[in-house]
Amino acid sequence: DVAIQENVEFSGMLLSHAVLLGLKEAGFERPSPIQLKAIPLGRCGLDLIVQAKSGTGKTCVFSVVALEGLQMDSNSVQVLVLAPTREIAVQIWEVMTSLGRHIEGLKCHMFIGGLPVHEDKLKLKNCHIAIGSPGRIKQLIEIGAINTDSVRLFVLDEADKLLESNFQEQINWIYSTLPENKQMLALSATYPESLAQHLTKYSRNPTFVRLNSSDPALLGIKQFFQVTPYHPMQHVVYEEKVKYLLKLLTSATFNQCLVFSNYQTRAENLCDVLNSRGWPATFISGSQEQHLRLEAMAKLKAFQCRVLVSTDLTSRGIDADKVNLVVNMDLPRDHETYLHRIGRAGRFGTYGAAVTYASKGNELEQLQAIERKCNTTMRQLPDPIPNDLV
Ligand code: ADP
Ligand code: MG
Repeated sequence: DVAIQENVEFSGMLLSHAVLLGLKEAGFERPSPIQLKAIPLGRCGLDLIVQAKSGTGKTCVFSVVALEGLQMDSNSVQVLVLAPTREIAVQIWEVMTSLGRHIEGLKCHMFIGGLPVHEDKLKLKNCHIAIGSPGRIKQLIEIGAINTDSVRLFVLDEADKLLESNFQEQINWIYSTLPENKQMLALSATYPESLAQHLTKYSRNPTFVRLNSSDPALLGIKQFFQVTPYHPMQHVVYEEKVKYLLKLLTSATFNQCLVFSNYQTRAENLCDVLNSRGWPATFISGSQEQHLRLEAMAKLKAFQCRVLVSTDLTSRGIDADKVNLVVNMDLPRDHETYLHRIGRAGRFGTYGAAVTYASKGNELEQLQAIERKCNTTMRQLPDPIPNDLV
């Protein structure tokens, strides 16, 4: 899906000089297939539902559409981008700012929980593009800091996550404050059937943009599983898995590794264990203070940690291009979560591996169900683990 067509360049896509320059400086020379398909449709003003695998460049799709549609003679918010986690919002802001760096006077700001509201108010005096998490954006609209009258583009990144029940009410409310006339772009790698139905509330006639592909998992990611012994005590099962993990990390060569656990305390303990064994490891979860979360992400991206232990907070959207190994200590709760997690390796056509630990019995059955739903094949982790697993 990320096979770039050699003969197509962004310069052939009728983009403005400023955006072309921004793309070029970001190292984006040729559009990915989803970019080639979705950007022109988006620029026509159509409502789009864009489905494309993890790491195929969806951020650039809506960023280009947003940047090309701005009216620079106004200071008001014209584009509203929502993302399910603060970390994704930060990342979108970075891409948008980078691609828009040659648009004179561009004001693109980020609004996330955990950072002071009074600073948000200052930023909003002059803001064309507002990117944020639903909670904070709703709050800012409520207190009158964001005026949504001029919003012409509404973007839902990781749309299926945003339309899960815990966010739905906030999004509905935000939507109700937007002008009648606007464009909507919804993007995600996974589309549970309920999503299209939810989205009909926000768009009368959306165009689906997807690439023909039956296997939703990335081709570049080798998927492995390891059966671990069953034990009625959960913590014993977990300790057993930690031993396997330590063996994996020392046997296989990898750049950076993301380890997922379903439980914050386990993730935190595991990080301590890894550190005590000399692995530069960091921990991130939604329960941490915002500055710690931002620090952990920055460390990952600056290659200051080799292993990031995380909850599902980072299973979606996070783009760290050196991550080429993903480990599931606990089984993801559904096959969508599995796909998002393993999609953290293999960004933009690179190669990676995913290893899932499942204890005999229940967990193994769950894993097999995930494998079926994903219509994919996982292989047993070889023993001994080869150096070149990834
Ligand atoms: P998605 O949202 O589809 O999971 P992202 O938007 O996070 O993917 O992009 C994944 C990676 O691909 C990023 O590191 C981004 O910089 C890179 N990328 C996106 N588009 C291009 C392009 N046209 N050329 C080169 N790299 C790109
Ligand atoms: Mg994304």
